[in-house]
Amino acid sequence: MSTCFVDQVATPEILLRVTNVCGECYDDLVEGEPIYYDMQSYRYLCEKCHEALCERMNDECEVIEEEGLFG
Ligand SMILES: [Zn+2]
Repeated sequence: MSTCFVDQVATPEILLRVTNVCGECYDDLVEGEPIYYDMQSYRYLCEKCHEALCERMNDECEVIEEEGLFG
């Protein structure tokens, strides 16, 4: 469980006042679906990008560039 994000459910208020797209992939955020506030980058992410980012973060919520780690 990551403490780097605040998990919320997309509400009409967030979608209208803050953003209605993911800050990473720009997919539409849909009311009632889980969204994740990235406290490092001050943006909302969809579930898919949240999971991808979590896997690349260390304990300090810093994104680690993993070069040459395939295979
Ligand atoms: Zn996304």
